[in-house]
Amino acid sequence: MPVVGTRGFEKAEVTAGGVSLKDIDSRTMESRLHPGLYLAGELLDLDGWIGGYNFQAAFSTGRAAGIAAAE
Ligand SMILES: Cc1cc2nc3c(=O)[nH]c(=O)nc-3n(C[C@H](O)[C@H](O)[C@H](O)COP(=O)(O)OP(=O)(O)OC[C@H]3O[C@@H](n4cnc5c(N)ncnc54)[C@H](O)[C@@H]3O)c2cc1C
Repeated sequence: MPVVGTRGFEKAEVTAGGVSLKDIDSRTMESRLHPGLYLAGELLDLDGWIGGYNFQAAFSTGRAAGIAAAE
């Protein structure tokens, strides 16, 4: 079935766009442009199919960022 539109941001379950992954150190989630700033989850230009990939991305990047920020 062809997709002919969306129901907009109010109904969105995940958003595309955000901070480019090339501007982030993927081991620590620290910004390459603003050292000391750590980003995770929907702030990043990272999205997946519905079904847990976005939760996993949020949990994994959040954990990595939290550990690195506390060091
Ligand atoms: C209806 C719905 C269904 C979904 N179903 C799925 C699914 O089945 N599987 C899946 O993988 N993903 C699903 N998602 C997507 C998933 O929920 C998100 O990708 C994920 O929760 C993003 O996590 P996050 O921590 O980046 O952002 P969020 O979970 O949005 O957390 C951001 C937090 O920041 C808080 N906040 C905002 N502004 C401020 C401020 N100024 N000061 C302090 N706090 C602030 C907000 O209140 C919020 O608690 C769904 C999303 C929606 C909306």
